[in-house]
Amino acid sequence: MSGNSNFDDLFAMHQLDRPAPAAAFPAGAMPPDLAYEIVHGELLLDGVSRTNLATFCTTLVDDQSKRLMLENLDKNIVDKDEYPQTAEIERRCVHMIADLWHAPDPATTPGTSTTGSSEAAILGGLAAKFRWRARGGSGVPNLVAGPVQVCWEKFARYFDVELRQVPLRGDRYDLHPDDLAQYCDENTIMVVATMGQTFTGLYEDVAGICAALDELQASTGLDIPVHVDAASGGFLAPFTAPDVEWDFRLPRVRSINASGHKTGLAPLGCGWAIWRDTAALPRELIFDVDYLGGSMATFNLNFSRPGGQAIVQYYEFIRLGRTGYDRLQSMLYRVAQHLGAGLVKLGGFELIHDGDPARGVTAVSWRLTEPTDFNLYDLSERLRARGWLIAAYPLPAGRQDETIMRAVIRRGFTRDMADLLLADTERALEGLRKHPVAVSLTRAEVGGFTHSARPAVAAVPTIAQAQDTAVSELEHTVVSGVEHTVDSEPGTKG
Ligand SMILES: *Cc1c(COP(=O)(O)O)cnc(C)c1O
Repeated sequence: MSGNSNFDDLFAMHQLDRPAPAAAFPAGAMPPDLAYEIVHGELLLDGVSRTNLATFCTTLVDDQSKRLMLENLDKNIVDKDEYPQTAEIERRCVHMIADLWHAPDPATTPGTSTTGSSEAAILGGLAAKFRWRARGGSGVPNLVAGPVQVCWEKFARYFDVELRQVPLRGDRYDLHPDDLAQYCDENTIMVVATMGQTFTGLYEDVAGICAALDELQASTGLDIPVHVDAASGGFLAPFTAPDVEWDFRLPRVRSINASGHKTGLAPLGCGWAIWRDTAALPRELIFDVDYLGGSMATFNLNFSRPGGQAIVQYYEFIRLGRTGYDRLQSMLYRVAQHLGAGLVKLGGFELIHDGDPARGVTAVSWRLTEPTDFNLYDLSERLRARGWLIAAYPLPAGRQDETIMRAVIRRGFTRDMADLLLADTERALEGLRKHPVAVSLTRAEVGGFTHSARPAVAAVPTIAQAQDTAVSELEHTVVSGVEHTVDSEPGTKG
């Protein structure tokens, strides 16, 4: 709502009689109510975030979170001396997360909040690169991983690390621990294992990966550390799959990243990077800032950042505790399983991730069982007309000919909504069967509403890229403010 202004006067103002400012810096001023209405009206086109099942990120926050965000809108988390209690709250979160992930000594575990998992992953990667160099590493450093989120491609490109991606093989959708040895050498700074793959939602076998690296060490002497990208699984598995060993219980795991703004339930802009112990975080990465007359270690890519996200993360931690997270997320798994079972009942779909808490995140992913006259991009487009945003994309290298779909179930998505989605899916399928599409849609035409991007800039191909030309999930990215849609591979039928 726009304050005390009269709508009739407002919407008759002369500034509305011309296009909204876009390409050039506006010459003059306009009343705030009017500017608000222009921006507000444009953003209606964004749709409803809660029916966006492509995102992993928080789309629903409670009133207390909103109040805390608003009250702390003016606080810069980097100003440790000026806002010591914000700094203290961030530190408490680090220790709580270290405890949750079984760090040997949570009270002294180093870690930091970040803007998201991407920054946290890059910090984890940099620490591994510095450790490798301190061990006498020279030559071109590499990291070995299965299908990864685009942040690892960024890390590799921005910081001159070769990304060695192990292609999928057999009927597995994740890294085969058996394949690791042939990709690792003395310049491997780390292996990245993913708890909650972007593509399928499935957990990778972190314990199996560590065991394979133990064997490699026994036979070759190479001691390769593991970083776990737990962007979405880091705040699920500790509560809903406590017996799955993926965290600091495994001695080879040196660092972990997670997105507070995904299953951690913090608002957008919150990530966490945590190291096993101080030995895992090289001193060169740390800068000391003034803090209550003393000094405090910081290691971030950003300088100024909002403080509210870490504050609300702390609010969620103390509000919910272990039982609260477990209760809420167990419900989401039940909704995911209900959706998965419903899709199977519709016929024609096969589940890749069925919403089992021991196998992956609160999501379901599926594919078509047999060739049809339409593909999953066509289905995605039909569902979009009803307001559902559901990602469809090809699998990564090794299985690129397969298209899959994924729905992430997050706080705010209920069983009732799952039933509505199932009914709409049934209607969409009927429509597609009755009125077959003449030419199926392609990924590019459906657009990019997942989180990975194939770079739009020409890249120097690396060995890893030569092995894998479709290392990332989607092709929709933004370069210098212009949207580019690169790649227009034909929609894969079936
Ligand atoms: C979302 C995600 C990321 C990136 O995290 P942001 O918080 O969006 O920066 C990295 N890895 C995985 C596995 C993810 O799901």
